[in-house]
Amino acid sequence: MLRNFLILIVGLYANALMSQLKSPYEYYNYNYGENFIYHHDVIDYMNYLAENSPYIKLENYGYSEEHRPLVLLYISTPENLQKLEEIRTKHFSNIENGKLADADVPAIVWFSFGVHGNEAGATNSAIEVSYLYAQPDESRKQDLTNTILILDACLNPDGYSRYVNWTNQIQGEEIHPGLNDIEHQEPWPYGRVNHYLFDLNRDWAWLTQVESRQRIKVYNQWMPEVHVDFHEMYPNDHYYFAPAAEPYHSVIMDYQRKFQETIGMGNAEAFDREGWLYFTREVFDLLYPSYGDTYPLMNGSIGMTYEKAGHGMSGRAILLDNKDTLFLKDRIEQHTTAALATLHTTAQNSDFLKSQFYRFFDSKQSSDKTIFNGYLIKNGPNLESLAKLMDLQGIKTYAVNASENLSGYSYFNDRNQSFKTEPGDMFIPSGQRKSKLLQALMDINPKLSDSLTYDITAWSLPLAYGLEAYGIAGSLNYGSEWKCQHHENQSIQEDVYAVTFEWGSEESYRVLAELLSQGFQARYAQKSVKYDVDIDRGDILITRWDNRSVEDFAKRLQFILRDVNYKTLKSGWSNEGKDMGGSAFKLIKKPEVLLAVGDGTSNNEVGQVWYYFEKILNYELSRMDFKKIDGTVLANFNTLILAEGSYDLSNGKMDEIEKWISNGGKLIVIGSAIRPFANAEKIFGIRKKEFPSGKDSVSVKELEKNRFEDAERNSIASSMPGAIIGNVVDNSNPMSLGLGDYYFSLKTDKDSYKFLNEGRNAIYTNENLNVKGFIGSKLLPTFKNSLTYGFQNKGNGSVIYMVDNPLYRGFWKQGELIFSNSLFFVQ
Ligand SMILES: [Zn+2]
Repeated sequence: MLRNFLILIVGLYANALMSQLKSPYEYYNYNYGENFIYHHDVIDYMNYLAENSPYIKLENYGYSEEHRPLVLLYISTPENLQKLEEIRTKHFSNIENGKLADADVPAIVWFSFGVHGNEAGATNSAIEVSYLYAQPDESRKQDLTNTILILDACLNPDGYSRYVNWTNQIQGEEIHPGLNDIEHQEPWPYGRVNHYLFDLNRDWAWLTQVESRQRIKVYNQWMPEVHVDFHEMYPNDHYYFAPAAEPYHSVIMDYQRKFQETIGMGNAEAFDREGWLYFTREVFDLLYPSYGDTYPLMNGSIGMTYEKAGHGMSGRAILLDNKDTLFLKDRIEQHTTAALATLHTTAQNSDFLKSQFYRFFDSKQSSDKTIFNGYLIKNGPNLESLAKLMDLQGIKTYAVNASENLSGYSYFNDRNQSFKTEPGDMFIPSGQRKSKLLQALMDINPKLSDSLTYDITAWSLPLAYGLEAYGIAGSLNYGSEWKCQHHENQSIQEDVYAVTFEWGSEESYRVLAELLSQGFQARYAQKSVKYDVDIDRGDILITRWDNRSVEDFAKRLQFILRDVNYKTLKSGWSNEGKDMGGSAFKLIKKPEVLLAVGDGTSNNEVGQVWYYFEKILNYELSRMDFKKIDGTVLANFNTLILAEGSYDLSNGKMDEIEKWISNGGKLIVIGSAIRPFANAEKIFGIRKKEFPSGKDSVSVKELEKNRFEDAERNSIASSMPGAIIGNVVDNSNPMSLGLGDYYFSLKTDKDSYKFLNEGRNAIYTNENLNVKGFIGSKLLPTFKNSLTYGFQNKGNGSVIYMVDNPLYRGFWKQGELIFSNSLFFVQ
């Protein structure tokens, strides 16, 4: 029955069979529209279209982490494609002018499919969309004269392949639309995420992943006027397109709101014709800057998310609540219709769109009073990392060469204050092409027009990077464009007494990791000491004596330290503080690390730890399914990491872990992984704080305020979408070394914990909660006087509690310091 139905549907595409170009139905020998197309076959068809259609040009813009090609199609009339570079040049000269000075440019439209790999209907739709434009009918041809369509069929080839390879392997001959088949039970890790299990649709602004970095490079070369990000959501939903729900970030302009509506109405018309259900202005908001809709909006574009019912759980077909069946073909058909309607509406309204888009870049237009003239960033360990991100984003940064007394808004202290600039500081002026994006990334406390939001509500870069920063209203003297520093180190002689380098930058952790990997012994300073050079608390010390057995000590050390500024010491005699052979320096134990993975652990958070070890530290990490980790396994490691997730510690597992800790093991538990240990409070010293409980009786007045229809809105009082909290820092604690006096943590979880009685509270909140972003009013008090980071010694080992995930999405650079301190320093 099902089969016949599918054959009938395929028949509707018979007209495609008559054309010269092979449709995907003809091209593939495994029934396009019924089965998911392998990634290499998607690319194969894209190449076929580019070779055989004058409407298509193909560009391979890079490779995924697993070396799959990242490919763009440029789709337009042959005339436009011939002068593609000329069009791009004119487009950018209009951007520079801040107006439509040269009207002879088509509108640039960019379609992104499949950023979430297991929303595989999206990439499969891209095949159909590409085909329809490769051989356009009159109407589509007309649309293409006014537009250049840039199409990326698969933003996340590794996640897509993980899902499609799996589903094609386990599928039976018969389709099981009911949920009672493995086809609907995608295994860990999900295809949603990329190789490192990162959600690429949270990475547009932070660019931690190789796929994002390569994509943004081409994006910045084109700066499209419209960007659509095609997704899938759960099967019983219908179709979502723009306009989006509130809140909108305050940098989003009126024309962007208005044009979303224009496009939305065009889509609605096409959907109404077919009788399809859809929704707009609900659920998907525009606040967090790192999405495929908000990020383009902050770059002047009409950025939009489209969502079709589907998703990994749907398989090839799934039975819906209304007794209908959702087929892969339906998913393709609706995305295709929305894509076509969007391009048509854009082409019809391209004059209005272009004139508004270019004005977005007119600096006079953006003289909003909330904008600072620029941002002064004081020199600090993460400044180079910030400079690299700004560069990738096309935001210009400049070096400060002189000392100057100024005043400005302090990000750390949340008030205006005076400060002094010094050579080595950085200045980022607001008056530049990426002004709005810059403003959004630096936004200390985003304005919320509505507190029902989909994601974190604060992300300000100076707080994430732990950099002292000031928003400046006036002017400032600054020099040439920022250049990453050259390390000018003296050579290390064989008779060197010791070498030291500063702790706190990404490079410093990587260098320490390499030293330990190569068999060097290193120490960290527990106190500041003055020798012939000064050593600060947290700095790393390598002495010749500790490394007597290391061959070619001086030569190899000099090579390993190439990425940091180091100083050599001639003597261990202290001018102030303890001598070098005394108690100021603690030997660092080489971590042998195991990370629990598999069912129950969270994809994203496990991926963040994995990514940190491979890409930040470049240090060995073993991973094993949590179910398989027992005392015998643990005996091979001295460090166990439990990232966020839900862990079953019954059947003696808790005892085995405790025994291993007592014998010298170090357990690092992050976020929700703390819960089972808090439940075993007799064994472990961590205790959860109670969420304020409901009262026994409710007054009539309260009932009147709490109508059924208001339930969702009232629930926000207990909600925690993600916000920044200021902390008190014990800067003598090994977990806090290098942080200075401030730490702002990103809180994404409702749990809060009491101070450790039998442990060391390194970073915590007090009575005066400093919050940026939104936390529900009922929840807020529980975060006062609570633990954020601390550790407890147990027998010969230790347990490290990280209430807030310090590696969240790989962009909280200051969190990496806490993680590195915990890994290397805490014993
Ligand atoms: Zn998605």
